[in-house]
Amino acid sequence: MIGDPLFDSESIASRVAAIAAAISADYSGKRPLMIGRLTAAATFLADLSKAVTVACDVDFIAVTNYGDGVGIVLEQDVSVPVAGRDLILVDDTVDTGLTLQFVVKRLLERAPASLAVCTLLDRPHRRIADIQIKYRAFEAPDVFVVGYGLDYLGRYRELPALYAHGTWPA
Ligand code: 5GP
Ligand code: MG
Repeated sequence: MIGDPLFDSESIASRVAAIAAAISADYSGKRPLMIGRLTAAATFLADLSKAVTVACDVDFIAVTNYGDGVGIVLEQDVSVPVAGRDLILVDDTVDTGLTLQFVVKRLLERAPASLAVCTLLDRPHRRIADIQIKYRAFEAPDVFVVGYGLDYLGRYRELPALYAHGTWPA
């Protein structure tokens, strides 16, 4: 069940503002392409894109991780060329980093000018893949998190804050 927020909407807004300020400074004079990983990162990306003060483009990519070595499948690619672009890959949660590593590898093959990773939640202690996170909003505890775009079997994406769900999906 859903209890008190882990991170309330004011805390989220404050972290979004701080990351947007960092991105605006780091990409001053550039026009980054922010790529959100569907579906959970869409809410975070929407808020971030409104808060940055540099011109940026917004696009999405979708992958499904079937887990336990079964494989990761690219379901939907970005809709524009990424060669020569400054990419900011926006994710909802980086745990093992295996899902993100799959996406990073496919984007780097197309020779972007740069690629930085921005995540809402990070669990660095669970990392397997060698992934560098440039921007992160929160380090997440070992509870399954829902809300602010994150779902449990499709539910709770509409909640404006981040909550601990009592159980992990099977
Ligand atoms: P990784 O490949 O890094 O181990 O898995 C990251 C993905 O697992 C995230 O993009 C997300 O889809 C899912 N995930 C991991 N932890 C959580 C969580 O606490 N809540 C939700 N909703 N999804 C999670
Ligand atoms: Mg998910």
